[in-house]
Amino acid sequence: MNTTYKIAVLAGDGIGKEVMPEGLRVVTAAAKRFGITLEFTEFGWASCDYYAQTGNMMPTDWKAQLSGMDAIYFGAVGWPDIVPDHISLWGSLLKFRREFDQYINLRPAQTFEGVRSPLADRGAGPIDMMIVRENTEGEYSSVGGIMYEGTPNEIVMQQSIFSRRGSDRVLKFAFELAKTRARKHVTVATKSNGISISMPWWDARAAEMAGQYPEITWDKQHIDILCARFVLQPQRFDVVVASNLFGDILSDLGPACTGTIGLAPSANMNPERDFPSLFEPVHGSAPDIYGKNIANPIAMIWSGAMMLDFLGGNDSDGQCRLAHDAIVAAIKSTLATGPHTADMGGNASTTEIGVAIAALVTDAA
Ligand code: ATP
Ligand code: MG
Repeated sequence: MNTTYKIAVLAGDGIGKEVMPEGLRVVTAAAKRFGITLEFTEFGWASCDYYAQTGNMMPTDWKAQLSGMDAIYFGAVGWPDIVPDHISLWGSLLKFRREFDQYINLRPAQTFEGVRSPLADRGAGPIDMMIVRENTEGEYSSVGGIMYEGTPNEIVMQQSIFSRRGSDRVLKFAFELAKTRARKHVTVATKSNGISISMPWWDARAAEMAGQYPEITWDKQHIDILCARFVLQPQRFDVVVASNLFGDILSDLGPACTGTIGLAPSANMNPERDFPSLFEPVHGSAPDIYGKNIANPIAMIWSGAMMLDFLGGNDSDGQCRLAHDAIVAAIKSTLATGPHTADMGGNASTTEIGVAIAALVTDAA
């Protein structure tokens, strides 16, 4: 079998342009070592530079240009001095998520030897959780509007929309994921004590799904106490599944508890592969540190490992899984003993970290 995987490369803005070359360096090294054929196509759009030239974030035929790809490797988007964040985001990343039906947003949060968790002094144990966020519906609908605008009676409404299909597929993904993990536990985020129509319904969908997985333990927790427990006892969580808004909040909080956002990867997936899935660091374009070659490239590199794993499909012994594991092992070893960027208390450059990890991926016997 000699599959060629086609990967669209969109570096985007700010430090996206600095961490992408390091992601490509490491992914290429891993592919070479494990005999995986990758074909990269770089695109200059989905960036604020492109917006400055054209008035749009992307060309009108963006969907046709990306549709034949197996995956999208994405840096970061946003440059608020040129384009307001809601325009750059809705004009690129959020279009991909919705129009490519990338309904799973998967974000691992893990502590590593060599990186200080801000919670270490509070007695928190090692963190190893997977946050599964619903990525296409829920609270982030565009349905709503303003009435009596400009008057003292002004009212604004925005609907939350939960479909049975949309909820069941993300819940199912979470329970399936838990099957592959040691602790086999799912925590469902809810707020059914306050949001009295959609959230009790969501709880019932979760209970029905859980009934199909007798081997998985599960619980549901209200989002407020769940956030508190993320900080107080993060080691207790395994797989956490949440609606779009709650998942958005938890998936910034979880990685923040582990040390630096510069490590946190993410996958925006269409598991059925009807459309390309997208792999990107959790962090944004970080204008404050752009241009200095000091950004931490590990989130970008780890996202590349997730991309390889996804491309290999369910073949847990395949070359893509081995490539993923080799990259994660090289990241761990670099964090434990190798150079660190400034966000982790070191003074190494973006390039030095990428080169160090690529060397470990290449040399490991
Ligand atoms: P977005 O809205 O796109 O999620 P943001 O505006 O919330 O992004 P980031 O761009 O992620 O924020 O930056 C938040 C802070 O984290 C900044 O101070 C930035 O310097 C820091 N930061 C982000 N990514 C990295 C990285 N890879 N390495 C080091 N520091 C980073
Ligand atoms: Mg931002």
